[in-house]
Amino acid sequence: MSTTQTKLNLLDFSQQKLKQYFTEINEKPFRATQLIKWIHQQNESDFDKMTNLSKTLRHALEKTTEIRAPKVVLDQHSADGTHKWLLRLDDGNCIETVFIPESTRGTLCISSQVGCALACTFCSTARQGFNRNLTVAEIIGQLWIAKKILQADPSGDRVISNIVFMGMGEPLLNYDNVIDSIHLMLDDNAYGLSKRRVTVSTSGIVPALDRLTKAVDVALAVSLHAPNDELRDTLVPINKKYPIQQLLESCQRFLANKAARERITMEYVLLQGINDSDEHARQLIKILKNTPSKVNLIPFNPFPETRYQCSSNNRIHRFQAILVDAGLITMTRRTRGEDIDAACGQLAGKISDKSRRERHFIELEKGK
Ligand code: SAH
Repeated sequence: MSTTQTKLNLLDFSQQKLKQYFTEINEKPFRATQLIKWIHQQNESDFDKMTNLSKTLRHALEKTTEIRAPKVVLDQHSADGTHKWLLRLDDGNCIETVFIPESTRGTLCISSQVGCALACTFCSTARQGFNRNLTVAEIIGQLWIAKKILQADPSGDRVISNIVFMGMGEPLLNYDNVIDSIHLMLDDNAYGLSKRRVTVSTSGIVPALDRLTKAVDVALAVSLHAPNDELRDTLVPINKKYPIQQLLESCQRFLANKAARERITMEYVLLQGINDSDEHARQLIKILKNTPSKVNLIPFNPFPETRYQCSSNNRIHRFQAILVDAGLITMTRRTRGEDIDAACGQLAGKISDKSRRERHFIELEKGK
């Protein structure tokens, strides 16, 4: 017997929302702050342990609410220290979350949707189709569970310092839940992450990017991948709706909105013979002239039945050298977690109904 489905999941609540809820149940708003700290700082899900809350409140919470994160069904470790978790949601769908430890930081790569509706031709998530948006509890639950597991690790030094929305899905097509989750990530009573260490990665949903610009202060990465519309149309089909010029203008508005925003990361996956020529590099320099950028070159990570190959190391170096010579800050992303299919674009999850992409596309076309 389970009553869990009818209980409110407190992982869905930002501090603001929880304060409202507490006012409704005649509790003092500062109790909400105490509870938020228990949930997100202490990773506590047992109300009995929340000893600075009254017994009556704990009992009331126990009866009507719960703290329920997605369930870990697979925990894989890569030889390079990368972790990948397959997480099962209440409806049976699965998503993937990846932790990438580096000497100076620990990055958690989280998913925002079950699958993806965007059909970028070089991405394995796209091939899985789209099922639905993740709830706030499912987005923040990835951080909650990863932090809990990493803290319990005997080596003990695995701290999540950075979050990137580069897992499955397009975060700006799940706008409200992504924004609520970001509020919790930045909240000092919850995760207290610095705004420069939370990165939203988008394929370029221009109206949603303009909303994000004003709503919350985070870092931005844009999946550019091509220096002209003709090519980008084939790699990132949403480009037909929001072409490069429109996207870059939106990026410029993002940068102009806050003095501290200095650069946008432009992601560029290198596909052999497709977008990796000297001429492509020169075109890229030209289009980025008015948009302060940091180019992140990503060696293509293959997956079964893909039509693409990764550019050779020589080609990658040459491409990078052309950009660097023109004064563009350019980095080549080191591939991590390849042996457990945890690298960029390899996240597939497990989706029960993959047929919803078409419907989602129709909604997009209608401008929803
Ligand atoms: N939808 C968002 C976030 C998910 S993709 C976006 O498009 O930005 C996160 C990053 O991984 C993007 O830059 C994406 O283009 C890149 N990526 C996707 N498939 C890849 C692959 N097979 N190899 C390398 N990078 C890939």
